[in-house]
Amino acid sequence: MSSIRLTLPDGSVREVPAGTTGRELAESIGPGLAKAALAVRVGGKVWDLSRPIESDAPVAILTDKNPEALEVLRHSSAHILATAVRELFPGAGIGFGPPIEDGFYYDFDVSRPFTPEDIERIERQMGEVTKRDFPFVREVVTRDEANRRFADDPLKLERISELGPDETITIYTDGPFTDLCRGPHVPSTGRLKHFKLLHAAGAYWRGDEKRQMLQRIYGTAWFKKEDLDAYLRQLEEARKRDHRVLGKQLDLFSISEIVGPGLILWHPKGAMIKWLLTRAVEDDNLASGYDLVSTPTVTREELFYISGHLPLYGANQYPPMAAGAGESEETRYRVKPMNCPMHALIYKSQQRSYRDLPIRLSEVANLYRNEKSGTLHGMLRVRGLSMDDAHIFCTLDQVEEEIFLCLDQVDRLVRQTFGFELDFEISTRPEERLGGDEIWDRAEEMLERALKRKGIDYRIDAGGGAFYGPKIDIKFRDAIGRLWQGPTIQLDFNLPARFELEYTGADNKAHQPVMIHRAIYGTLERFTGNLIEHFAGAFPVWLAPEQVRVIPISDAQAEAACGIARRLKTAGLRVHVDDRNETLNYRIREGEVAKVPYMAVIGQREVESDSLALRVRGAGKKQEVMPVEAFVAKVTDEVRRRALAPYGD
Ligand SMILES: [Zn+2]
Ligand SMILES: [Zn+2]
Repeated sequence: MSSIRLTLPDGSVREVPAGTTGRELAESIGPGLAKAALAVRVGGKVWDLSRPIESDAPVAILTDKNPEALEVLRHSSAHILATAVRELFPGAGIGFGPPIEDGFYYDFDVSRPFTPEDIERIERQMGEVTKRDFPFVREVVTRDEANRRFADDPLKLERISELGPDETITIYTDGPFTDLCRGPHVPSTGRLKHFKLLHAAGAYWRGDEKRQMLQRIYGTAWFKKEDLDAYLRQLEEARKRDHRVLGKQLDLFSISEIVGPGLILWHPKGAMIKWLLTRAVEDDNLASGYDLVSTPTVTREELFYISGHLPLYGANQYPPMAAGAGESEETRYRVKPMNCPMHALIYKSQQRSYRDLPIRLSEVANLYRNEKSGTLHGMLRVRGLSMDDAHIFCTLDQVEEEIFLCLDQVDRLVRQTFGFELDFEISTRPEERLGGDEIWDRAEEMLERALKRKGIDYRIDAGGGAFYGPKIDIKFRDAIGRLWQGPTIQLDFNLPARFELEYTGADNKAHQPVMIHRAIYGTLERFTGNLIEHFAGAFPVWLAPEQVRVIPISDAQAEAACGIARRLKTAGLRVHVDDRNETLNYRIREGEVAKVPYMAVIGQREVESDSLALRVRGAGKKQEVMPVEAFVAKVTDEVRRRALAPYGD
């Protein structure tokens, strides 16, 4: 029998017979490792422990210490879920069951949606499946055999029919359940110990709205009970902060069936937040050397053929509409999904010299993207977007400084203002790209230098850049530890070429500028949704739609209360008087539910001393008596500093 050489992570080499499995290898290393082993990495791929290794390779036994093993466990959990569902609902069709961030799901074709009681039963049944500790058995089968095994499941037959002629078809069996699957899996169902089913939701087969609706069950699985508990606590906290629930409770926004999905109606309080955010970013833009521009929401679609967004990204745009009266019948218009080409045309409207650069154009604009209805989610995923967009046109030499300034803005407007932790990643040149290596070398180097100069740690996603330029992706971590997609700073060598943008250099020759796309918030919809959840609706004073609620104890102080409210308004504060004929306690409770930062209770003593009894959000029943003038000075200062909490630091 021939032997093969397996290189372990510590660099040592084991000579073993060809066909040795990961399990045998683990056993030869030690009984502890054999017991902990869940899968094996062979070369760059993760394999089942039971699969024979036939040639030389670097190998690593994976245990619960490896993130890859957690993914294997979660995918295996999806099979265990399907096993349980098939035992309880024998006719269920089987769709896909991948691992996802924090868990897994599986799609089932069933005659009716799963009820919460079904989910409980299925979860109990999963417990039975894990107790029986079925091994996961891998088989390589022919196409005919695969078709025979899944003859009763049209979803699986459809998948088989799409597999390439040379593809190895594998199936996996755990006890009574067999699935078409590439694997790998943990050795047996008993390895799943800490899991929970979360909820069920309709999902189109293959995400295609024209296909049948399946029922997707979501679950989560972890190696340790503490991790599962922590995750469930975070979910519970997230549920309490759900921006759709708080958005309704705080009367910030709504989505109307009549207007359409993914289109936000900003109510007065939500629109106040949107306006304040817009003003904050526009003020910062103006102070940072940007010009404001404004461009139309509809355009002849020719624009997007020049930019290259059509026909390539046609599916993400709304379909064309007829031209205006008096135009050629062939002319078509589109609502715009982005501003970039229009900003490029503003750049192009004049002869530009190197002395004019950089030119920074910014615009908070309404854009429309035809997102699939299944992906829409409150404010976080919408079709009508308000983007705080900007484009910088500069020389290649200026890129580093421009990126540095963008990072400054992100730091000011996102980290300092809202307390988000930021996470940075550079995406570098992909295989297929525009422009020579020299340009990419310099551009990538400048992105890194700008980040280093700001003292920022970053990761590199090698090859993850767009074909037209490298980029920096910024994510932010919210108050309960969730990571959100944040701003992107994207270099672009393509649009300037497509629009033939030029500037005259010091050498008197024509050169092409680099274009930088950047947004700070991204969209005001998603950012506001994030803020609602980050602050659980308790916005910092400067952003709170209602900053102060003045509450007279009785009718006798109503007039004085209105007088105080007028003075606060004159000082620029957003104030509301609650002099309804309700008990004081009731009105205070309502103010708490509305998460108003300050409630100013006015009794006879306060009237006589020109002061107010202050209740600060989050400080419980504690009341502090303060002269009206001192309160005005304190709050206006907090607004000016954009202090995070009512009492700020
Ligand atoms: Zn599988
Ligand atoms: Zn752009």
